Amino acid sequence: MTSPATPSDPSGPTGAAPTTAIVLGGGALGTSIAAHLARAGVAVTLATSGELCDGASGRSLSWLNSAGDRRPAYHALRVLGIDRYRTLFAADPSRDWLRFPGGVWWTDGEDADQETRSRHEGEVDRGYHSRLLGREDLQAAFPDLDARAAGAAAIHNPGEGWVSLPHLVEHLAAELRERGARILTGLGACEVLVEDGRAVGVRDSSGTEHRADAVVVACGAGTSAVMARAGVQIPDGSPLSMLVTTEPAEAEAPVLNTPRAAVRPNPGGTFCVDHDWYVDRIVEREDGSCTVDEEIVEELLAEASRLFAPGTRLRAAGWAAGRKPIPADGEPVLGTVSALPGCAVAFTHSGATLALIAGETVAHEVVTGRRHPLLAAFSPDRFAA
Ligand SMILES: Cc1cc2nc3c(=O)[nH]c(=O)nc-3n(C[C@H](O)[C@H](O)[C@H](O)COP(=O)(O)OP(=O)(O)OC[C@H]3O[C@@H](n4cnc5c(N)ncnc54)[C@H](O)[C@@H]3O)c2cc1C
Repeated sequence: MTSPATPSDPSGPTGAAPTTAIVLGGGALGTSIAAHLARAGVAVTLATSGELCDGASGRSLSWLNSAGDRRPAYHALRVLGIDRYRTLFAADPSRDWLRFPGGVWWTDGEDADQETRSRHEGEVDRGYHSRLLGREDLQAAFPDLDARAAGAAAIHNPGEGWVSLPHLVEHLAAELRERGARILTGLGACEVLVEDGRAVGVRDSSGTEHRADAVVVACGAGTSAVMARAGVQIPDGSPLSMLVTTEPAEAEAPVLNTPRAAVRPNPGGTFCVDHDWYVDRIVEREDGSCTVDEEIVEELLAEASRLFAPGTRLRAAGWAAGRKPIPADGEPVLGTVSALPGCAVAFTHSGATLALIAGETVAHEVVTGRRHPLLAAFSPDRFAA
């Protein structure tokens, strides 16, 4: 069965610029890649199993950062990711879903002081804006926090920010609609359609085929399974996670990364809160849905409330849990797949920070057929051996 509106000629010679593309996965990465392909003049279809943003992008802390220690190529990509958000911010600084209030990090334990100093020095060496703050400076800079909760020293990264991915996805989806792209939701679990060793489209759960010159798989934590069915191994390491969204609270804060709670502001005066200490207590059912004890939510919000001035009590408005997309080796998997011509992949941790730059560079590879130098270190081909 073939859908009537399907673009018809996917059989152009290998290496020719695609005129049609289908992007599988309606999260931040898929939507961004689709938008960048549409900007390049490609007739795009964005296809997803349920609703847009019903995966990790709908329950992400989405701290925009390149803090801490990582490989130079990954650091460069993340810094460029933040740069693209800066450009988006400058186009309309009134958006309440993309802000740059900076980030604050601290740790605890016996080696906290040493760990903090060495993290700070590493950041300074890489040219990442990093300031070491004592408790008094921290309190003065962020009066709504309770600096007594912090270690003796904290790191302030003034260039960091946060984004609400559901808003970003809606923003990019609106652009897609304006550009005449198709957005297909509710398709169920789709698979890549492979003919003569080439990706030629996608088959949805009803059996309908959606053909295109190029296929991009951006299925978040489902990416490994989709690619495995198409004969390409991309090992998965996606852990469980949970994000709590609070009721509105009278407090202002940067993004906070602390030993027991990570917190970021969210539109409407609310906050989003997560961490990883409770991950073993999240129960995943066979259908992928999760349950979390109410007491874990309360415990997390008690930890988060302690970061704020006395009297501030964060209350849960809701929570969402599921897999956080992370490739098994922890590094991004971005770009075209040599073993499956016509197919590219986008699967990464920190997909909020990378969403715009990954959309731009993966779309560039799809359109030009050339490996983007920024993605050389992140090619899906590294698993082929
Ligand atoms: C709790 C949490 C905290 C995070 N914190 C940060 C952070 O601070 N900073 C940061 O940069 N990043 C962070 N991330 C990571 C970031 O949010 C993700 O990397 C990003 O949202 C992933 O986007 P995606 O489009 O790849 O995947 P998703 O948003 O999961 O979208 C994938 C889509 O594909 C669909 N799909 C899956 N399989 C199929 C199929 N077979 N057929 C059709 N459709 C399919 C899904 O339904 C889903 O809609 C966090 C994530 C979580 C969960």
